[in-house]
Amino acid sequence: MTVGALVPAAGLGVRLGPGAPKALRELAGEPLLVHAVRGLRASPSVGPVVVAATDVPLVQELLTPYDVVVVAGGAERQDSVRLALAALDPAASLVLVHDAARCLTPVSVVEAVVACLRGGAEAVVPVLPVADTVKEVSGDRVVRTLDRSALRTVQTPQGFQRSVLERAHASGLASRTDDAGLVEALGGTVTAVAGSEEAFKVTHPLDLLLAEALLAARS
Ligand code: C5P
Repeated sequence: MTVGALVPAAGLGVRLGPGAPKALRELAGEPLLVHAVRGLRASPSVGPVVVAATDVPLVQELLTPYDVVVVAGGAERQDSVRLALAALDPAASLVLVHDAARCLTPVSVVEAVVACLRGGAEAVVPVLPVADTVKEVSGDRVVRTLDRSALRTVQTPQGFQRSVLERAHASGLASRTDDAGLVEALGGTVTAVAGSEEAFKVTHPLDLLLAEALLAARS
C-alpha cells in the first residue's frame, strides 16, 4: 500500500509575530517547511508528497531536492488539505496529513502512524498526555475543571485510509482544527498512538528557540 503525505504550509503564522509566512521562517538557516519535508523523506514508508503553499514557485524551488508536488493553499487549513489531497498520486491508498509547523517530528512517530494504518485503522492520531490542569472558562470565570487523565493533546502526522479522508473532506462539514475531527464528526473511528514531545508545533516565538535547541542537541 503506497503512503502519500500532504503538508499544509499555507498559514500566515500570525502568532509567531510579524515576518514571512510561518512555513518559510528560518530555523538554523533553513525554512521550517524544508525541515518538515526532510523529516518525511527520512521516513522509509513515505512515497508521494504534496505541499500546499502560498508562494508556489518559491516553494517549488526550495523543495527541488525532495521530489514534491506543490499546489496553492486555501483560506483555511482544511481548504489547503483538500486542495493537496486532490493533487495526490492516485496510487496512494494511505494518506498522512502533516503540519509544516511540526518541523522536527521524529521518524518514529511517522512510522508508528503508518504501522497502525497498515493494521487496518481508518484514522490515526499521535497524542501526548496533558501535563497541566485544564479548566473550562467563560470570560474570566472558571466554569469547571476537566479530568486531565482522560485528555490528550493531538499532533501530526495524522493518518487516514484515503477513502476515509476523501469522504471527510467532501462532506461539507464546517472547518475543524484537524482532519481527524472531520472523521469523528462523521461517526468514524479514530485511533490514538503515542506521539512525541519533539513533534511540537512551532506556533509562538518561544517555540523557535526550543526548535533551535533541539536541532543543536540532535547534531
Ligand atoms: O494555524 P495552525 O497552526 O493550526 O496551522 C497548522 C498548519 O496548517 C500550518 O503548517 C499552516 O501552514 C497550515 N495552514 C495552511 N493553510 C491555511 C492555514 C494554515 O496550510 N490557510
